[in-house]
Amino acid sequence: MRLIMLGAPGAGKGTQAANLAKELNIPHISTGDIFRANIKNGTELGKKAKSYMDAGKLVPDELVCDLVADRIAKDDCKEGYILDGFPRTIPQAEALDKAVLALGTKIDYAVNIDVPDEAIITRMGGRRACLNCGATYHVQYNPPKKEGVCDTCGHPLVLRDDDKPETVQTRLNVYHEQTQPLIDYYDKKKILVTVDGTQSMDQVFSDILKAVRA
Ligand code: ADP
Ligand code: AMP
Repeated sequence: MRLIMLGAPGAGKGTQAANLAKELNIPHISTGDIFRANIKNGTELGKKAKSYMDAGKLVPDELVCDLVADRIAKDDCKEGYILDGFPRTIPQAEALDKAVLALGTKIDYAVNIDVPDEAIITRMGGRRACLNCGATYHVQYNPPKKEGVCDTCGHPLVLRDDDKPETVQTRLNVYHEQTQPLIDYYDKKKILVTVDGTQSMDQVFSDILKAVRA
């Protein structure tokens, strides 16, 4: 199964993509995690992406489209994958269409996790991220077993630079301007599924599974 996760920053894409990847036994591909890993490792790509990310802006399409096209062509994606944070613009969606067509495949569903802006602002301040393995927690809604430490790999958890309140507002504006049009894009292709992302994480997960297995 080939899935795309859509939704505002903080809607729960990463949380649900990780759950779905486990359940469906397919890779979870997060472009945000790929960029953060590149920044951590000091690569050229990381250096180019960092200033955009810190400002809450999107990294230019040309830095992300080929990267994803290469990633989904890898062997471990033969049975499917979950794209989290890509596409984020119409040109990225068109590049993805081209890449999946070239592989002789198709996207099965675009899953839109719907959460209003007010709820996003509260959520982001409490998000804690593991920059080592990409796991995501929330101080209140999904705390780690030991405060400040990743359950999965034991690395310290951090408040992402781009989760500070002033950057979150910019990211929401960018989302509405550049990414929200994708909801219509996939609706027209008849592969859009929308779930209510204000529910508990378990309920959101079960709604997504029901929709993609229908
Ligand atoms: P995204 O990948 O869309 O940016 P995340 O999956 O990282 O979003 O979720 C953002 C924050 O909200 C995280 O701290 C996460 O633990 C929390 N979260 C995710 N889903 C829910 C939910 N249904 N209810 C409450 N908090 C949630
Ligand atoms: P995320 O982890 O998905 O919230 O992404 C964090 C940041 O990485 C975003 O605010 C962007 O700056 C950058 N980013 C991630 N994915 C993309 C993408 N598909 N296109 C452009 N920028 C991206």
